[in-house]
Amino acid sequence: MITKPRRYQSESYRRYVASKDCFGCGISGYSQCAHANGGGMGTKRSDLDTFPLCATRPGHMGCHMMHDLCIGMTKAERRELEAMYIERMRAMAIEDGRPEFKEAA
Ligand SMILES: [Zn+2]
Repeated sequence: MITKPRRYQSESYRRYVASKDCFGCGISGYSQCAHANGGGMGTKRSDLDTFPLCATRPGHMGCHMMHDLCIGMTKAERRELEAMYIERMRAMAIEDGRPEFKEAA
């Protein structure tokens, strides 16, 4: 492999991800753009490796925090979940015609 994965950043894409319903519980209106945790400490992931998870609100811990703290799942399960979420988000973005995925589509 010669191509080094570039770290893609896009605030507009992050806002788009956060506009979707939570992938964890399906609630709408609370989503944040969650980055995949895999890849090791200090590895900042691309903004395209993101998915919507709900924020913590009064009286309820959101899926985003549960995911980051790895609550109710093993690290291996989380990695699988992230791969699934990223795939799902990508399909959604391509369907919505997001420019970030134009070349990939
Ligand atoms: Zn949720």
